Amino acid sequence: MIAAGCVPQGQPNLAGLEKVSIIGVQQIDRVVEVVEEALKGNVVRLMGQRTRPSLELPKIRRNPRVEIIPINMGCLNSCTYCKTKHARGKLSSYEPAALVERVKTVIADGICEIWLTSEDTGAYGRDLGTSIVELLWAILEVLPEHVMLRVGMTNPPYILEHLEGIAKILRHDRVFAYLHIPVQSGSDAVLESMKREYTCADFEHIVDFLTEHVPGVTVATDIIAAFPTETEEDFQQSMQLIEKYRFGIMNYTQFYPRPGTPAAKMKRTMTTREARRRTKTISELFQTFTPYDGMEGQQIRVWITEEMAKDQHHMIGHSKNYTQVLITNDPALYGGSVEVQITSTGRFSVFGTVVAGTERMSPFHPAILGLPKDPTLTQQKAAVLDIVDTHGNEEMLDPDTDEALFLDQNKENLAAYKHSSANEGTKTPFMSQSMRTTWNLSDCALLLTFVAVVIAFARNIIHLIT
Ligand code: SF4
Repeated sequence: MIAAGCVPQGQPNLAGLEKVSIIGVQQIDRVVEVVEEALKGNVVRLMGQRTRPSLELPKIRRNPRVEIIPINMGCLNSCTYCKTKHARGKLSSYEPAALVERVKTVIADGICEIWLTSEDTGAYGRDLGTSIVELLWAILEVLPEHVMLRVGMTNPPYILEHLEGIAKILRHDRVFAYLHIPVQSGSDAVLESMKREYTCADFEHIVDFLTEHVPGVTVATDIIAAFPTETEEDFQQSMQLIEKYRFGIMNYTQFYPRPGTPAAKMKRTMTTREARRRTKTISELFQTFTPYDGMEGQQIRVWITEEMAKDQHHMIGHSKNYTQVLITNDPALYGGSVEVQITSTGRFSVFGTVVAGTERMSPFHPAILGLPKDPTLTQQKAAVLDIVDTHGNEEMLDPDTDEALFLDQNKENLAAYKHSSANEGTKTPFMSQSMRTTWNLSDCALLLTFVAVVIAFARNIIHLIT
């Protein structure tokens, strides 16, 4: 058995971990070593604090269309309930140039959605003399039109300095108008016990500003119920805050003391039964919210990056403000964006049907193929062959041109055929070209000259004979 993550890193001597191998949060690139040793029956613990892990570590993406890029490790806070800080330490940001390079690499892999993650995106770059806003603009410069960016969680203190800039970013066509800002409590007294370093007024200012300056923005938040010092009055203040903003997305948890944290040593002001009641009361209030009411009939653009919902009938997309939209399953739409008309709404998502004006991302898009902006035909074909070789696909459909490309059995020839209901299944080729032979304009001119010389020569011979 191998344990990983913040808790074993922060407290390796925890009961139950005595004979267990541990891989620390900054040693993740050495996972193979740990697994090999564990398989031999050895217990190894790699937990040293090192520089940040490489951004280029090999990975198998849970969703092949979504890339998650950490932009820094650690944070600048010392929240009293937090175990993550013990494991991840002080803020350590990746260089903007390294992050931009990573973005370029994953775009070439066919990614359509990028999530930037951090313990606190608002604090990004303070250790390097840059900022989250500067980083986001640098990334947007290299982001192709079909790729969407999701900015990760930010705590209130540092994002306060960047409100104008972050609002402009969230309005950008290629950025989801969505921000996760955990408030944790609606009481300043509790926030102080948590050492959160902001007030409720700060949080409300951020939410109000974004609501005013980013049309339709979604702000998600987190609440910790029954923090040890929380009085009934503090709790009621949290309830008022939740009621005021009626958050469509909110994670609420009952306080759990993480061993070794200052909050674990705090004297609790309530019974366990009372702690449960408060958590349940928050849950019941949250369940009454209907954030998507009134959306029926609206037409919105939806980016589709999840092939199948749990019901096995729909695929999942997200709108500009990251509303979850379910549409009837159609694998050809996967990885593209479509115009959807909302037909009904649910508690956590909306349902819609695809309408005219559908724009699908072409699998031959240069960015998808990892090619320069205006690639030659030869480059495109070589890239397609590479994908087919790598992924074993036999064909690729280009919904924009209604054509499909497929390779013959020995992978020497690339053929295109019209893909329509009339000939679906028959795959009638209308173009077939060798993948291994490159014909360009000068080759063609040479061939024509050669043919012309042969014809002239033949004519002269015939003339001489007759
Ligand atoms: S901001 Fe607070 S909760 Fe988040 S990682 Fe840092 S110390 Fe922990």
